[in-house]
Amino acid sequence: MKQNTCPLCGSKELKKFKKQSSDRITLGEKFFFEEVYFKCLVCHEAFDLLGETDRNYRIAEKKAQKKFVKKTIEELNKKNISMSFFERVFELPIRTLSRWKSGDFSFVSLALLRIVKTYPWLTDVAEHKFEEEFARDVLIQKVDHDVINTKAYNETSSIDYFFDSGREGGYQTVNG
Ligand SMILES: [Zn+2]
Repeated sequence: MKQNTCPLCGSKELKKFKKQSSDRITLGEKFFFEEVYFKCLVCHEAFDLLGETDRNYRIAEKKAQKKFVKKTIEELNKKNISMSFFERVFELPIRTLSRWKSGDFSFVSLALLRIVKTYPWLTDVAEHKFEEEFARDVLIQKVDHDVINTKAYNETSSIDYFFDSGREGGYQTVNG
């Protein structure tokens, strides 16, 4: 095996260190990976000389993404958003989600799943071909529903005022 050399000072006196680390993918679970680096005993710099940390990170990240994709698709199924429905409304080729679920997905798949996980009703909008009026109505209904279900609606007078004045046909001016 070739002896490792410090890229900074050229010394061959390197000591290998390992450390457990963790990170988290967006909306996903925490994942763990091993950091492997070499510390130069002469200049005291540390390096991921063989790209091991990077490789370990990618592998662990990919595993977390796979888990996220599978879990998200299963969650959507429970909300009556089946794989075939998802494919139909977003005009994806059939069996696309099966492919994703088995690990064959892209960064775009992850982005779309994160969006739909956050706003599942977007599938209704997609089913209506993203028709502007429908999209607006769904959004208004959604906001209304969420505001009513939020504690803030009962506790914050400014929100009450906003909706009360809206129902009475507009805002009142100071002089009016
Ligand atoms: Zn060095």
